[in-house]
Amino acid sequence: MNVILLGLPGAGKGTQAARISDKFNIPHISTGDMFRAAMKNKTPLGLEAKKYMDAGDLVPDEVTNGIVKERLQQDDAKRGFLLDGYPRTLNQAQALQQALASSNRRLQHVLYIKVPKEILMERLTGRFMCSNCGATYHKTMNPPKVEGTCDKCGAHDFYQREDDKPETVKNRIDVNEEQTEVLVRHYADYDLVREIDGEQDPKKVFQDIVDQLN
Ligand code: ADP
Ligand code: AMP
Repeated sequence: MNVILLGLPGAGKGTQAARISDKFNIPHISTGDMFRAAMKNKTPLGLEAKKYMDAGDLVPDEVTNGIVKERLQQDDAKRGFLLDGYPRTLNQAQALQQALASSNRRLQHVLYIKVPKEILMERLTGRFMCSNCGATYHKTMNPPKVEGTCDKCGAHDFYQREDDKPETVKNRIDVNEEQTEVLVRHYADYDLVREIDGEQDPKKVFQDIVDQLN
C-alpha cells in the first residue's frame, strides 16, 4: 500500500503515521525526520537543511526530491510506504509521480488530515518528543500515560523541536497553507484524497484512517 499523509504542521501526521506504520507494516518515511537526523549528524545535507528549517521555510525541492527518490528505492519501501511531510509542493508531487512510474508503482491513498488553523499553534508549541525513540506528545492534549516516561520505549528524556518555538511556528503554518491546498486539489483530480477530521481524539482519528484504508 502506497500512502501519502497531507496536513498542515501540527495536524497530527507524525502521531498517526506511527500507528499506521505499525498496523499496516509499511515504513514511515518522514522528510522532516530525515532532515533532523542529518542535522544531528552534521552531514552536508543536514547543514544545508538547517538554513531553511530554523526559519520554518521549505528546503529546496531539488534537495528534498533527491533524498526521497533514494529512500523509495530501498527494499522495505518496495512493499509499500507511508510518506509524511512529502510532497509539500506541486514540483515534489510531480517528482514523486515520476519516481513511482519509473518503477511501475502508483499511489493508492492520499490521507488529508484536516484541522482548523487556529488550533495548530497550540498543538505545535506544546509538542515534545522522546529523545530516544522520537515518539510525539503534547503537554496537555496528549501527555505520556506516566508523567516523564515514554509510553513507547520507557525512556525519561524528552526535548522540544527548535522549530516549535512560537516565532517559527507561525511562518511554518503560513508557508505550508497555500501549498497544501494546491496539493489537495491536485490529488483530488486523481480521486485519491480521503479527508480525515483531525480535530477528534487521536484514537478516533486513527479509527477513521483505518476505515478509509480498508
Ligand atoms: P504533524 O506531524 O502533522 O506536525 P504531530 O503528529 O507531531 O503533527 O502532532 C502535533 C502535536 O499535536 C503533538 O504535540 C501531538 O501530540 C498533538 N496531537 C496530535 N494529534 C492530536 C489530536 N488528534 N488531538 C490533540 N492533539 C493532537
Ligand atoms: P516536519 O517535520 O514535517 O514538520 O518538517 C520540518 C521542516 O523540515 C519543515 O519546516 C521544512 O523546513 C523541512 N521539510 C520537511 N519536509 C519537507 C519537504 N517535503 N519539502 C521541503 N521542506 C521540508
